[in-house]
Amino acid sequence: MIVYLSQKELDAFDQSKEDVLVGYAYEWEGEGVVHLHTQPLTHAFGQISGCKFSKSAFCTDVVEDVRWLVFIDEGCIKVGLRVDGGIQYVGFQMIPSKENLYSRSKGILEVGVLQNKHVAIIGLGSFGSQIAIELSKSGVGEFSFVDFDRVELHNLARHTCFIKDLGRLKTDAIEEAVLGKNPYAKIHKYPLDISKNRMELETIVSHVDLVICATDNNPSRFVLSQALFDFQKIGIFGRAFTRAEGGDVFVYRPGQACYSCMVGNIGVAQEEITNEASARQNGVIPAYVSAQDADAMVQVGLSADIEPICNMMVKLALVELSKGEASGISCLEDELVYNYYLWANRRERKFTNWHVLPGAGPMPTIMRWYGAHISRREGCAICSDDEILLDIGDNLE
Ligand SMILES: [Zn+2]
Repeated sequence: MIVYLSQKELDAFDQSKEDVLVGYAYEWEGEGVVHLHTQPLTHAFGQISGCKFSKSAFCTDVVEDVRWLVFIDEGCIKVGLRVDGGIQYVGFQMIPSKENLYSRSKGILEVGVLQNKHVAIIGLGSFGSQIAIELSKSGVGEFSFVDFDRVELHNLARHTCFIKDLGRLKTDAIEEAVLGKNPYAKIHKYPLDISKNRMELETIVSHVDLVICATDNNPSRFVLSQALFDFQKIGIFGRAFTRAEGGDVFVYRPGQACYSCMVGNIGVAQEEITNEASARQNGVIPAYVSAQDADAMVQVGLSADIEPICNMMVKLALVELSKGEASGISCLEDELVYNYYLWANRRERKFTNWHVLPGAGPMPTIMRWYGAHISRREGCAICSDDEILLDIGDNLE
């Protein structure tokens, strides 16, 4: 039998006035694994039974339906399983407290630095859901999740959620996924449409250190871009092109080009349409297109083609969040200096003329990142301001 206990819960019980507490045993049926908790889990799993926690090894009076016993006696912990009227003692492992949970990443990432960072993720689809989980694994301690969508069948192949999550708000499902990696993460949930709730969006953006812009359409990205500019916050935008043949990532750093400058400079690439409802709402699929034809226009790529783009967004976020602090990721500051990155998965459509990977030398090929500097654009609807332009002068690229 493999048994797990929570250090945080045991400490709380040890410091409480109670001598005995009946908690919960969650057992993965037929797998010989049990997790013992003093408090009920929000999302229970397995077969649930009782577990008696007591502060004295002599406190063995029988409680009905309780198979598991945990004794804490002056720092000494014993776990017992009631078998045929007797107690069989078993070994256990501890889920560490907050300070120790990420000690393994110490030296690689300054966990202490990231623990105090607050990241907003706008859009929890195939991009946002993966990025949320990756950032929590890296040690980011606080999140604001914004998405009004629910988990649907057509999402599952590219989403981190499971069949059991069908119908749930993505904000709730991703909260559970993140807490499953880091139970000490602080999470704020906003199941709302940012285009219709500008004030709320502004409040959210104003409170965070960095914004991951992972919505699936340009109108919402312009709304985000405006909020980033107004509050001078760093934002990382990512998207996939049709059927995820490739994708790009744009970083907004206050004072540099904004998303609108980027679109004005390089044009709007043909993007993936992943969601008919959203594409109709934004006019990408015109109203006169029948449901059958619209179905053919919804073209999604493989999750494996989305992942490299998400990974770049995560790396860029970590570099921005740990800037100025000594950490293992600091060396990437010398590499990730651009504000625009382009990636191709296949030699299709806009990448048809790219070179075959073997022997391509310096010619552009698939599965390599290409960085570029996008300059601020005169007359940009969001960030252009003649006086500001004059002040910045030569710093404009
Ligand atoms: Zn601009």
